[in-house]
Amino acid sequence: MILISKFVYKPNYKKRMSQDLFQAPDYYQLDDLLTEEHLLVRDAAREWVKREVSPIIEEAAQQAKFPSSIISGLAEIGAFGPYIPEEYGGAGLDQMSYGLIMQEIERGDSGVRSTASVQSSLVMYPIWKYGNEEQRKKYLPKLATGELMGCFGLTEPNHGSNPGGMETKIKDMGNHYLLNGAKMWISNAPFADIAVVWAKNEEGRIKGLIVERGMEGFTTPETHNKWSLRASSTGELIFDNVKIPKENILPNKDGLGAPLGCLDSARYGIAWGAIGAAMDCYDTALRYAKERIQFGKPIAATQLQQKKLAEMITEITKAQLLTWRLGTLKNENKATSAQISMAKRNNVDMALKIAREARQVLGAMGITGEYSIMRHMMNLESVITYEGTHDIHLLITGMDITGISAFK
Ligand SMILES: Cc1cc2nc3c(=O)[nH]c(=O)nc-3n(C[C@H](O)[C@H](O)[C@H](O)COP(=O)(O)OP(=O)(O)OC[C@H]3O[C@@H](n4cnc5c(N)ncnc54)[C@H](O)[C@@H]3O)c2cc1C
Repeated sequence: MILISKFVYKPNYKKRMSQDLFQAPDYYQLDDLLTEEHLLVRDAAREWVKREVSPIIEEAAQQAKFPSSIISGLAEIGAFGPYIPEEYGGAGLDQMSYGLIMQEIERGDSGVRSTASVQSSLVMYPIWKYGNEEQRKKYLPKLATGELMGCFGLTEPNHGSNPGGMETKIKDMGNHYLLNGAKMWISNAPFADIAVVWAKNEEGRIKGLIVERGMEGFTTPETHNKWSLRASSTGELIFDNVKIPKENILPNKDGLGAPLGCLDSARYGIAWGAIGAAMDCYDTALRYAKERIQFGKPIAATQLQQKKLAEMITEITKAQLLTWRLGTLKNENKATSAQISMAKRNNVDMALKIAREARQVLGAMGITGEYSIMRHMMNLESVITYEGTHDIHLLITGMDITGISAFK
């Protein structure tokens, strides 16, 4: 036994579980393009992920439990409404800082980043942009601290890529609306205090409304048995004659463009987040390849493993440049939906490919929970589907460059 163990590669499990050794790759010195504030915000998020997320995330994912203990920490690093003005409790940061925070959180786990994305871009953003002053003051400060958690109901059992076909309806009853229908695949639904829900009125116009937990006829059953985003809680929203007070309608924008505006903001954050997941897979694979000895030398000394690692850093660097530029356009209010689609699609695909390659670099160890790679890979299978699938984002680029929609 002792003799065998001398020759067996023994990963230091304890060290790996308790110590996050992540070192962020910056091959083209992109840090030079960031301001002091960006670096401070990014580093605070990076340290928080190392301290609070890395030690607990594997167990949460294995048990398929959302780690609610991290909610206050997410609020403290400004992950809930980074760009929402301070007067409403947000962090008042720019779009680059928002992206960097999402990158760091997803470096830890895509499920945790999903919770932050939903809260910021799919719940706080519509209340800020499409709500009235009363709604902003009532909900935003509590959403920023995590005292209230929100979810976003757009997808339905019969309408995913085509949300414009939604069947959920509101009926004007004079002093209130009556809401009927169902949403599915809703992140944070099982524990959310409020839901921003999209439904058609009697004229077929899509309206946004705020549904509160406790309203009669509103239930949020959890979706079980996911192999992906296991540390994020997913569920349904079921509305059975729910009375919605008129003051809960978002008055300042309606039509499909309203939910799509929220998705633009979330997809932008995902473009950054995916880089975080890719950086973690690359960094893990690089360290492992330098330590793992086969045929009397580190596997990092072989051409095949170098090819994998070199291609990974090349793709990460290209994505970093694309996304930094998108951030500058976003800050100038010039980024188009199609540009955001391209970055979301490219970066998530890049991260998933890197996760698959990195998993192979680790051999059998790559399938265990001792390393983050397999968890990232499984998570990214959701990220490549939600907020517009890989195919749909390609069709958006196609439509943008040809002027012809191939959706229908
Ligand atoms: C873990 C998770 C969390 C989610 N969280 C939320 C949430 O918080 N809120 C919310 O509203 N939704 C959420 N979603 C739903 C998500 O946005 C949808 O799953 C997504 O929009 C795709 O819809 P669908 O699954 O119904 O696939 P479908 O639309 O049925 O698509 C199936 C396949 O057909 C392809 N396809 C569809 N139309 C076309 C076309 N015209 N041309 C070519 N190919 C096409 C798609 O690309 C895809 O490959 C979540 C999903 C997951 C997995």
